[in-house]
Amino acid sequence: MADVLLPPAPTLPGARHLHSGKVRDLYELTDGPHAGHLLMVASDRISIFDFVLDSTIPDKGEILTRMSLWWFEQLADLVPHHVVSTEVPDAVRGRAVVCERLAMFPVECVARGYLTGSGLLDYDATGEVCGIALPEGLVDGSRLPEPIFTPATKAELGEHDENVDYAAVESAVGGETAAALRELTLAVYARAESLARERGIILADTKLEMGARPDGTIVLADEVLTPDSSRFWPADDWRPGRAQPSYDKQIVRNWALSAASGWDRASGEAPPPLPPEVVERTRSRYVEAYERLTGESW
Ligand code: ATP
Ligand code: MG
Repeated sequence: MADVLLPPAPTLPGARHLHSGKVRDLYELTDGPHAGHLLMVASDRISIFDFVLDSTIPDKGEILTRMSLWWFEQLADLVPHHVVSTEVPDAVRGRAVVCERLAMFPVECVARGYLTGSGLLDYDATGEVCGIALPEGLVDGSRLPEPIFTPATKAELGEHDENVDYAAVESAVGGETAAALRELTLAVYARAESLARERGIILADTKLEMGARPDGTIVLADEVLTPDSSRFWPADDWRPGRAQPSYDKQIVRNWALSAASGWDRASGEAPPPLPPEVVERTRSRYVEAYERLTGESW
C-alpha cells in the first residue's frame, strides 16, 4: 500500500495534537472551558483511491463539519452524539467541533442498503457480505432486500478496512454491545436513508463510529453521514449494473483516470495536483450535496 504523506497539523493554542487521519486532525484541549475534551478538525484535504491529494478543496472541511452537525441533530432522538460545542480556536472556526472523549469501539459500523464497493467484491467472491448471505443475481448498485449491518475493522493509515462478520464484533466488544451497535447502526441508516430519499438522494451505505462514556452509554462519534463516510448517489441517475456516479468525488476520480491527468493508477504514485476547474467543480458538488440534503443554503 502507498505511504500516505500528510501536511503537518496546524499548531493550535490550548490544544495538543494527537493524531491525523487522511482528512481530519484530532487534538486534546489542554486549556480553557473545554480542557480535557477533544477537538476534531476537518481539513480541506481530499482522498481518492486511498491517496491523499496535494490539492485541497476550499471549504470542504467546513461543509462536512456543518453536514455532520446537521445530521447529529436529525438523529438525536435515536442516539446521543459526542459534540459538546462549536466554540473552537479562531484558526479552525467553522470546521472543528469540541467533542467528548469516548472509549471508541474498535469497529467501523457500516450499514448498506445497496451493493457496491467492498460489499460487491465480497458478494462476487462468496455470495455473502460479512457472513450475510444475499440473493443471487445482484449487480453493482442493486438495492438489497433490506439494509444490512456489515462491520469492518479499522485499518492503519494507508491500508484498507477489513470487512468482518458479526461474530467478530461479538468477540471484540461482547454480545450485548455488538447487538446495540448493530441496532443503532441500522436505525441511523433507516432514518437517514428516508430523509435523503425525500430529497432525491440515495444513501447507498454509511460508516459510523461509536464509543462509550465512562458510565457505559453508547454515543455516536466521529463524523456522520458526510460524503467522506457515506455513498450518496443522485436518485435520478441510479441504474444498477454499473458504477453509480457519486455525489462528490466522481469529478476527481474521472479526471485522475483520464488521459488528461497523465496519472498511471498502477504506478503506486499519488495522482498529480488537480487543475483549478476540477477543484471548483468538486467544491460545487460538496455545496450542492449540503444544500440538497439540509435544505439550507451555503
Ligand atoms: P481516514 O479517512 O483514514 O479514516 P480520517 O481523516 O477520518 O481518516 P481518522 O484517522 O479516522 O481521520 O481520525 C479520527 C479519529 O478520531 C478516529 O480514530 C476516530 O475513531 C476518533 N474519534 C472520533 N470521535 C471520537 C471521540 N468522541 N472520542 C475519541 N475518539 C474519537
Ligand atoms: Mg476516519
